[in-house]
Amino acid sequence: MRPHAHVLQLDIQGSPQAWISLERAAIHYACSDVMWEEGSGPLATLRGGMNARTGIQSRIEVAPIIALKGASRINLFDVIPSFSKSKLLRRDRHTCAYCGQVLAGDLLQCEHIIPESRGGPWSWMNLVTACGPCNLRKGARTPDEAGMPLIYLPYVPSRWEDFLLEGRYVRADVHEWLSARLPRNSRLT
Ligand SMILES: [Zn+2]
Repeated sequence: MRPHAHVLQLDIQGSPQAWISLERAAIHYACSDVMWEEGSGPLATLRGGMNARTGIQSRIEVAPIIALKGASRINLFDVIPSFSKSKLLRRDRHTCAYCGQVLAGDLLQCEHIIPESRGGPWSWMNLVTACGPCNLRKGARTPDEAGMPLIYLPYVPSRWEDFLLEGRYVRADVHEWLSARLPRNSRLT
């Protein structure tokens, strides 16, 4: 599969729903479910069946962002994006929340602001990125107790942001489309 071969699927109102494969997108085109498209040009051109009458093979040009018929049933603003270490590191720009060092992923850890041993949850609001030495030094203390103030604050990513955090290879035009919809507190802009 090509690196950019994921299509951002929206509902008719423009809320992101999922990253889908080219093949899945092609099915939506074939079923005439695609209501509008975004992006600077086709992501791929797929060849379909042969037209029996004309003898011409059909072609489907798949855009990088497609909006499908029908609104989604759930309110996406109520959905908290699922948590993962790689998404946390991207949210925090690979920066230790205590010393400010920018490091590679394997040198960084998910750090509980309120320690786990004291009931601090595994959640977007209680986790930040930290380097090993800072994590060790802070131990089972709060930032206050440890005298280690946070240099940035945690936040729950918005739906649009989550799609940027999730997507491994996001094409420039798709990145722009999502970025234009990020809230002001986002660190991804
Ligand atoms: Zn550190």
